[in-house]
Order: sequence, then C-alpha cells, then structure tokens
Amino acid sequence: MDIEQIICRDCTKVSFSIGRCQKCNSPRILKHDELFSLNIAHIDCDAFYASVEKKRNPKLINKPVIVGGGIRGVVTTCCYIARIKGVKSAMPIFKAKKLCPEAIIIPPEMSFYKKISNLIFEKFYKLTPLVETIAYDEAYLDFSGTYNLHKKKPAELLVELSREVEEELGITISIGLSEKQIFSKACVLN
Ligand SMILES: [Mg+2]
Repeated sequence: MDIEQIICRDCTKVSFSIGRCQKCNSPRILKHDELFSLNIAHIDCDAFYASVEKKRNPKLINKPVIVGGGIRGVVTTCCYIARIKGVKSAMPIFKAKKLCPEAIIIPPEMSFYKKISNLIFEKFYKLTPLVETIAYDEAYLDFSGTYNLHKKKPAELLVELSREVEEELGITISIGLSEKQIFSKACVLN
C-alpha cells in the first residue's frame, strides 16, 4: 500500500499516511492524487434551513424536521431523518405528513436563515475574494493565487472551514473540489 499525503477531517492536519491520520490517529481522512492541486470549490450546506432550526432548538436534533408549509404548501428543506422516510424538497406538505406523520413542521424564516448565511459567507471571503453566490447556502470559491496569502492549500483551508462551520453553527457542508467550476459540484470530498 502506498504512503500518501492526506488531510485529517478531525484535526485538519496534513500528514503522510497509509490509512489513518498520523497526528490524531483518526480514520476520517481525505486522500486523492490531485487533492493538493485543485483550486475551485463548490460548497453546499447540508439541509441548510433544517440544520439552522436544529441549531437554534437543540430539542429537534434527533427529530424529523421539515421546513416548509406557508403559502406554497410544500417542503422547502427537510433534515436527513425525514429524508429516510421518503420526504423530499418541493413535495406537498400533505404528502410529507403521510410519509412521516411524526415530523415537526416549521414555517420558513428567511430573514433568520439569511443572517446565518451571512456568517458563513463571511468565512468564505476570509479565504478568497472570488466567491460566486448561488444560494443562501451554496457558492463557488476560486482559490487561485491564495496560497501566498494563507500558506495553505485550498483543500486544507476547506477542511478547516468545514470543521469551523460545524462547530460554530451546527451545519455540515459538502465540498466539491476541482480544476474547473463545472466539475467541482460533482467532485465532493468524502
Ligand atoms: Mg444545500
């Protein structure tokens, strides 16, 4: 087995390893031949509105949460517990209730989600000025030329960002990394 340069998702340190982080022994490592040479990231927060609601009301953490209803009467976002039951975004609320009767349905509060979004985007702009906003919870970040500023590769910065957002805001993010914008959405770091 080859010894490769890896990044640890837990301690965010870079090391050379076969299967575990050499710094903290975590098995949650990222490795890829081009991991340290890719510059374009696509970032998408997981179940954003539902995660924000769980963060502000921790009693909801282990419950199926649906954000939606209101005038359109559809699911705007649902957490992964609700998704297991078959609930999906854009589904009519009455159908979601049939699939998951125990779901807690919360009307969207867009102004609050925007505030949390602003906190996340502030973190993006600390890493690079080249941020293309797609949605409150989604953006492309171009890290071309940022190495001189941070002395860290994009993948390292992104692992740190992911941990910071999860610790501070209770939101997990999916990150794709590529050499071109059109690919980065598909190349999620897992
Ligand atoms: Mg999202």
